[in-house]
Amino acid sequence: MRVSFFANFALQTENNLKTKGINKTKVNLVTLGCSKNLVDSEVIMTQLKGNGISVEHEVDGNENNIVIINTCGFIDNAKQESIDTILKYTEAKENGLIEKVYVTGCLSQRYRDELEHEIPNVDAWFGTMELPLLLKKFKADYKHELIGERITTTAKHYAYLKISEGCDRPCSFCAIPIMRGRHVSKPIEAILTEAKNLARNGVKELLLIAQDSTYYGLDIYKKRNLSELLDRISDIDGIDWVRLHYAFPTGFPEDILEVMVRKKTICNYLDIPLQHASTNMLQLMRRGTSRNKTEKLLETIRSKVPGIAIRTTMLVGHPGETDKEFQELMEFVDEWKFERLGVFTYSHEEGTSAYQLNDNVPQEVKEERANELMELQEQISLKLNEEKIGNTYKTLIDRKESGYFIGRTEYDSPEVDNEVLIDAKAHYLKIGDFANIKITEAREFDLHGIPGINN
Ligand code: SF4
Repeated sequence: MRVSFFANFALQTENNLKTKGINKTKVNLVTLGCSKNLVDSEVIMTQLKGNGISVEHEVDGNENNIVIINTCGFIDNAKQESIDTILKYTEAKENGLIEKVYVTGCLSQRYRDELEHEIPNVDAWFGTMELPLLLKKFKADYKHELIGERITTTAKHYAYLKISEGCDRPCSFCAIPIMRGRHVSKPIEAILTEAKNLARNGVKELLLIAQDSTYYGLDIYKKRNLSELLDRISDIDGIDWVRLHYAFPTGFPEDILEVMVRKKTICNYLDIPLQHASTNMLQLMRRGTSRNKTEKLLETIRSKVPGIAIRTTMLVGHPGETDKEFQELMEFVDEWKFERLGVFTYSHEEGTSAYQLNDNVPQEVKEERANELMELQEQISLKLNEEKIGNTYKTLIDRKESGYFIGRTEYDSPEVDNEVLIDAKAHYLKIGDFANIKITEAREFDLHGIPGINN
């Protein structure tokens, strides 16, 4: 965890608190779910720290007397993980190991009434937009002067940057708009300020995230304005890589492709969840597109940005998905050979439009389809990785683990994509630095390499 600008700011506040005898509070903040939730946790930590309250992220042990759990409420598995985590800490409270448990985030936003009833031992529940109320529990105020500053919990050299909140899309299977509300873009100047502060704190890679990043600006600038944001953010001193996540295929702003080619700091990488390939399924999913339009978009992206790595996500087992439509998805993935691909199984979520449909694909069939698709992707990924042997890639070294220095190329996002492994017994590399790595071996989802020339 890293503090800078407000170290002295916190100190002043901490002294004030000493007089109030409150500073015995030590908070452990636990984050579940996606990178957007992680950014929210970082904002909570920044505000607590800014109020002179000691806070750590996901620490073991019971040094901390108060636990805040930032939950995920997206799909069944995620909801279960959130509930298990809450029960773990309410049990620790019952055993006198901690004093208070506060719950915030998407699960709390979506099911507060039921959860308050079912887990009465939680001290307070907060929605996704109720940070000031949470701070009140610590007799702390929301410090506007801290907006744009953020403690980060990721490795020092990369950080997530949320460019908007909420979503206006009607995707049939998705409960996120229920938990996060309508799409609200952050003003471009505020994003640039936050990015500059992160760069000042040593961040070299910015990962732009949102529910739908390609919708950026439509609300506040009445036009899709992602290209201007990308253009300006990629000029910030100290930022070497800008990575775009969560693009949406329908209404895709193709003007960003020109910026991606022109600005070398923008990674040759695009995360664009497609969810399916069959036109019938895309219509059932209310994605507002078809197979034909999707393929036209992919052709445009691949032709305008040569060598781009496309990450996508597919959803299998949506109500109405037949074997034939699943086979069509398999053929599509085999044809387009995405560099990176993830698969979700459909989860029947109340409050979504798909909840009105009959969840007619048995769970075991959903899982079989997800496994079959990932097995295909494993082969595709291995072949694509084998083509990299002998080439040298600019690699950002993230960590050292199990005898290896582990890094990523511009084609790989943290946590979800491939990694490059360099033997730490034979070579020394500096974590947080870039190195030119010559690829010597390929695995399904990893590469092995040695430091190349000009390192
Ligand atoms: S774009 Fe669709 S899947 Fe993504 S958050 Fe919005 S509604 Fe959900």
